[in-house]
Amino acid sequence: MAPPPRVVIVGAGVTGSMLAALLKEMGLSVKIIEKSRGAGGRMTTHSFRGGSGGRSEPVVGRADMGAQYLTTRSCQDHEVLGPMYTSLQSAGVLSPFTGQVAGPNPYGSGNAPRHFVAPAGLKSVAEHFLTRAEAEVEWDTALSKLDFSPNGSATLQLSRGASAQRPPTAPMIPDSCEDGGSCGSLSADIVVLTQPVPQLVGKSRYPVEGNFLDRLEDDTTLSKLRQVEFSSRFATAYFFDSKTFSWPYVWTAHYFEQGDVRYVAHDSGKRGAASEESMVSVLVHSGVPLGMELKDQEAPFEGAAARMLADLEKKLPDIPWSQASGVKTHKWLYSQVYKGIGAKRPDPAWEWTSGDHGFPGCVELFRTPQALGLIAGDSLAPAGNFEGCIYSAHCAAEVIKKFASDWDGQGLVKSKH
Ligand SMILES: Cc1cc2nc3c(=O)[nH]c(=O)nc-3n(C[C@H](O)[C@H](O)[C@H](O)COP(=O)(O)OP(=O)(O)OC[C@H]3O[C@@H](n4cnc5c(N)ncnc54)[C@H](O)[C@@H]3O)c2cc1C
Repeated sequence: MAPPPRVVIVGAGVTGSMLAALLKEMGLSVKIIEKSRGAGGRMTTHSFRGGSGGRSEPVVGRADMGAQYLTTRSCQDHEVLGPMYTSLQSAGVLSPFTGQVAGPNPYGSGNAPRHFVAPAGLKSVAEHFLTRAEAEVEWDTALSKLDFSPNGSATLQLSRGASAQRPPTAPMIPDSCEDGGSCGSLSADIVVLTQPVPQLVGKSRYPVEGNFLDRLEDDTTLSKLRQVEFSSRFATAYFFDSKTFSWPYVWTAHYFEQGDVRYVAHDSGKRGAASEESMVSVLVHSGVPLGMELKDQEAPFEGAAARMLADLEKKLPDIPWSQASGVKTHKWLYSQVYKGIGAKRPDPAWEWTSGDHGFPGCVELFRTPQALGLIAGDSLAPAGNFEGCIYSAHCAAEVIKKFASDWDGQGLVKSKH
């Protein structure tokens, strides 16, 4: 029997990890390339460690740096979402959000939304999907070049470790490739890219090189992909020792309409964090105006952190911000989808049952009898959120299912007649 197509997914965020789980159910095994050291992407959770803060020290606090909660308006017996939320809750990954939200309600009225939180942080959702997928993940490894050939498989060039953060034009560091073939290059029959679209087709500091967009050059799809825009914002997590600090407000999360700070959450309270977390975590998001104004700032983002701190001291003076035991600021250069494919605005109140709203879910980059290339992720979905990602992963899985069903290891011979 011919071997099944080799699938590589780039990105272990929610889209990539859900897609890997769906492909596993179809009997396909998947390799994932992830440039960070952990899963979750924009649903990442920062771990604050005790002692020297080194990776071997115990985790004493956590904070969701990106997405805050998963929101659904779906009915409990929705064919796709119903079983998914049930299994995430039974596995202890998600629990209903029960806190109070203050300030302007971004979820509007209408079909009452249900919110879920993850006690161990939202990155545990992607981790759960990866476990289901039994996927092999190359952590700390970035795709730097992708080429499709007209009569063969795709070739991916990878860079690892420190080089994962470097422009691909900088030399790769072979010394960091402990296990030889795990960096350098890789062949695949199906490749799915899940990083934010502007990182693929726009101006990116670390562009992915190669011919992977060439087939779209004469097509309006490429110009529609180039219209995708993301907002930028900063996130800061503060960690306070629970022996000396207790949360002073009745609300768990607060939205603000004005100023540099637009969202504050009692993060450990929001999640119902386990007792191993001795730190109370507070998560702060800047507004998009500050994110856009300071988007070129480099780590540790002192200017942005100082602007947010000044606003926090005015807005929430009951919290001793400057006495925190730990502070972590992160820049989300690609934060949320502002304009999706074709400059269409995604709708955060979108419901799966209301159709695709003109969003394709995924886009085909390349297809020959031997190779298939796709882009998936929230830029292509009707909503730039968790359910948008799940929808996109399902769309990509459908396309792959059709391709794989015609596969005989040499190409799509059945469909060639
Ligand atoms: C501040 C903020 C608040 C948000 N709030 C919410 C919310 O409350 N609820 C909600 O549902 N959604 C929210 N979102 C949106 C939600 O986080 C995203 O829709 C979702 O996480 C996108 O998942 P993804 O897998 O499509 O993309 P990503 O999470 O961006 O995953 C892409 C992955 O690809 C990796 N990658 C990138 N380039 C390469 C490369 N060259 N090689 C290898 N790997 C690469 C990245 O490291 C990343 O892990 C928020 C987002 C942000 C930033």
